[in-house]
Amino acid sequence: MEQTSHSLLDLLSINLVLRQTAPYLPISSLLAVSRVNRAFQALVNTHPEAWRHLDLSRAKSATIDTSPIDAGGISWRAERMDEALTEDDFYSGPLRGIFSRLHNKGVLQFIHTLILDGLSVPADLVREIIAEDRFSVRILSLRDCKHLNHTKLQQVLRYAVRPGRSDGSPKLRGLYVFGHKDNPRTLVMKDEPSTRPAPGHPTGVLATEGAQIGAEWNSRSSAILDESLPDSDQQRWYSRTGRTLIRPTNEWADTLYACQGIIAFDAVLCKGPRHDIARTTSGDYLPPRMASIALGPSGCETCGRSPEGPAIFRHSQEDALPLLAPPPTHSSTLRASQRPEPDPETAEFPPLFTRCEDCLRGRWCERCNRWWCEACYAEPISRTAQPSIPQIPTSSSSTTPTPYVQSVEWGGPGPAPSGPATAGGGAPVKVYSKLCVEHCLVGEMMMSADGFWG
Ligand SMILES: [Zn+2]
Ligand SMILES: [Zn+2]
Ligand SMILES: [Zn+2]
Repeated sequence: MEQTSHSLLDLLSINLVLRQTAPYLPISSLLAVSRVNRAFQALVNTHPEAWRHLDLSRAKSATIDTSPIDAGGISWRAERMDEALTEDDFYSGPLRGIFSRLHNKGVLQFIHTLILDGLSVPADLVREIIAEDRFSVRILSLRDCKHLNHTKLQQVLRYAVRPGRSDGSPKLRGLYVFGHKDNPRTLVMKDEPSTRPAPGHPTGVLATEGAQIGAEWNSRSSAILDESLPDSDQQRWYSRTGRTLIRPTNEWADTLYACQGIIAFDAVLCKGPRHDIARTTSGDYLPPRMASIALGPSGCETCGRSPEGPAIFRHSQEDALPLLAPPPTHSSTLRASQRPEPDPETAEFPPLFTRCEDCLRGRWCERCNRWWCEACYAEPISRTAQPSIPQIPTSSSSTTPTPYVQSVEWGGPGPAPSGPATAGGGAPVKVYSKLCVEHCLVGEMMMSADGFWG
């Protein structure tokens, strides 16, 4: 037994081994390891790698636990509230307790990646994490947090990046707040799916503390394999998925703008030419907006590019790339958080085309997500002017869109679009009623004409 204990200690004392294993341990297991003996205690309490990546989202002590019949925790809360306690203090309680204990152990400073997804995290607690010297968090994940007031959070962030802030502050480099917390993808084992226990509910022999640690390590190493699969968050941003953000508010856009070059997010600002006053007229200028539409890697349907160019990892500025979820386990750098998987054949990183909805109005098909850039497709003179409805092509002309495209014209400003369908000096309509004329609108009209929808 003594021999085994020494061997494990020797193994964990290797920096690389601790770096690879510690992030997969819940805080309870990490503390259990530190209680084995003085040597383990010294290892866990003094080694930064043991605490660098801390995921508290599944820690029971971090949650406000209420019984199922006490919906919303009203009576639980009433029993514990005292008059001096503010609402934020109350909901911060469990996490403040954990942070206080970790600070007393001297390990709070070692946490560089902190995951608080789904927990009660009032904005005031975020302010402490960002502003107080006892924290050194670089990557913070606050997805689907409860009691997190986004307006207050925006104020906290804008204060953190204010001109005149102290040198080296804030330490925070990346914030996950827009995406949804992960499904337990990293806990899924590849074998025996029907017999595996539910995450967080060990049974039988697994219920002993030592066995739990071993089983945890085994299942986590299996999870490493799962993590090498294509990342769904990468698909969300880099594929032609359309809307990626549900609530892209202008207040958040202003906050991202203020944080540019200092704190990056799991969302980016639209870089379309209309947001750059040097590249557009004052009438067309748009204030900062969040890029909420993922347009895929192929660019504009006509030219394959965009006026602003795609964002590409290693070539573009940090604020042009979204953080990809989940936060990486073995690194706490912004670069690792933004790195998409390269193309397996070319080893090149994928180009990211993403825009705000205002920039895509009238030039993006909401069904197939094809789009046409400003250089290739002129906008209508009046956004409110409705062109006549395109005619339904006959079956013989269904593969050549020119005849019905010619029936809809508007004279747009800007360069004449390329393509075969320009007629009568006007631009052919590419998008009508939020559908691309060539593919989706025609298909819909054909189905309608065939009586599909009555
Ligand atoms: Zn184009
Ligand atoms: Zn835009
Ligand atoms: Zn379409």
